[in-house]
Amino acid sequence: MTVTGPVPVNRLGVALMHEHFTFAYPGWFADDSLSPYNRDAAETACLGVLEDVKKFGVQTIVDATAADVGGRDPVLLKNLSEKSGVHIIAATGLFPESVGAGNYYKWQSTMRGRNLEEDLYELFSTEINVGIRGSGVKAGILKVATGDPGITEYEATVFTAAVRVAKETGVSIITHTEAATVGPAQQELFLKLGANPERIMIGHQNNSEIIDYALSQLEMPGFYLGFDRVNPLMSAASEDNIVSLVMRGFGDRLMISHDCIFVWLGRPGKFAPQFSGWYPDYLFKKLIPKMKAAGVTDEQIRGILVDNPRRFFGGEQ
Ligand SMILES: [Zn+2]
Repeated sequence: MTVTGPVPVNRLGVALMHEHFTFAYPGWFADDSLSPYNRDAAETACLGVLEDVKKFGVQTIVDATAADVGGRDPVLLKNLSEKSGVHIIAATGLFPESVGAGNYYKWQSTMRGRNLEEDLYELFSTEINVGIRGSGVKAGILKVATGDPGITEYEATVFTAAVRVAKETGVSIITHTEAATVGPAQQELFLKLGANPERIMIGHQNNSEIIDYALSQLEMPGFYLGFDRVNPLMSAASEDNIVSLVMRGFGDRLMISHDCIFVWLGRPGKFAPQFSGWYPDYLFKKLIPKMKAAGVTDEQIRGILVDNPRRFFGGEQ
């Protein structure tokens, strides 16, 4: 399900599996009086990014912006998809407890008699089956998240509700990992909940430089690993690990994306120099040439960018 309606999975083509069109950390609305959201400006900026990545053959982008994060704008995503021709998949789901809506939902359940799991189940189901915030634009992916150092009770409840919805709707799940150690615990929780690992991507593998971290997760069949933060801020070691994993025969379990934020909401500022080059062409300009120089074939790269997303979204093997 894309923001403009259903698209056959074999037409998704080259897919970036974790990017953000507009984003701000929760709390950004505190600055709304001084820097209100300007959809037109966001649209112009995002269309420029889309034109740039289309040159590299990108046909699909997953907007991994959760429901409790500033900037998720289904109307913007629909306009962008219609104007650019790029398929965009919107997310429902929640950020880690400490950064996201944890306080709100805990208040609701402890002080107002609400059942957290049922409330989340209803939210995710509605955004997938009916649409996001009354826009009619449906979410096509579930995003769940854990903080550092491990999975909290609240986060486990988010996983439980998401897996229930995934089972009912067939929607796939991506994850956010804060610490570079929690991937295996996320996998265990998913298996305990009876989720289908072939429809799950454990995200932010770039947080770790240790290849054994990825290898231990690849021991569990099915799960995709998201090296979804390739950008100049991440270490070269995590990029080397991608090459090494392909060479070891795990190319059919990997996804690559940038976790790039195309438009930061809130008051404007100047980024630190190390942010320069964090743009969703990094994969094509920097990483793919590096992978090819190390012996990764065009066919293997196409497998990662086209075949893996297709299978992840339920396409044929
Ligand atoms: Zn992200």
